[in-house]
Amino acid sequence: MAKNGSAIPIAATGAEGGPARSYQLLIDVAAPVRVAVGRLGEFEFPAGLYCYTGSARRNFEARIRRHLSPAKKLHWHIDYLLAAPGVRVREVRRFAEEECQLNRRTAGESPVPGFGASDCRAGCGSHLKRLSEDRFQRTEDSSVTGRKAPAKNTVFCPLTRKRLCR
Ligand SMILES: [Zn+2]
Repeated sequence: MAKNGSAIPIAATGAEGGPARSYQLLIDVAAPVRVAVGRLGEFEFPAGLYCYTGSARRNFEARIRRHLSPAKKLHWHIDYLLAAPGVRVREVRRFAEEECQLNRRTAGESPVPGFGASDCRAGCGSHLKRLSEDRFQRTEDSSVTGRKAPAKNTVFCPLTRKRLCR
């Protein structure tokens, strides 16, 4: 158990190429869940792996801790999703890269238009993406990398291709 009483694992990796200013939360949605996302309205989130991209210019680590804390006033769109049953943060990744650039090179569908994008001026459409686990597994196929094929349940981070725990 971590100091704050949470059992959520936090990636120890820092950002490469400078101080972290953006981050991605890899989020497990265990079963389909209907969530009222503040003023955006109610949406159905299919089960799967999601990626939320955000940034904090100041108090970066405090922002991450806030995302991981179950006790908070719901304010951002992501707060509503993370408060839903069966939804948990699997991993946190930190980046020096600008948040919208990071978001746009993350492949996935956007189930909720406008999610987390209230302040986005780059036209991302959504800062929450649903990732295709199948596709990421295939990128680590032995025929591509020459390495041993991963176990069936193995999931890889779409950005680093590092194995994620299940
Ligand atoms: Zn954006």
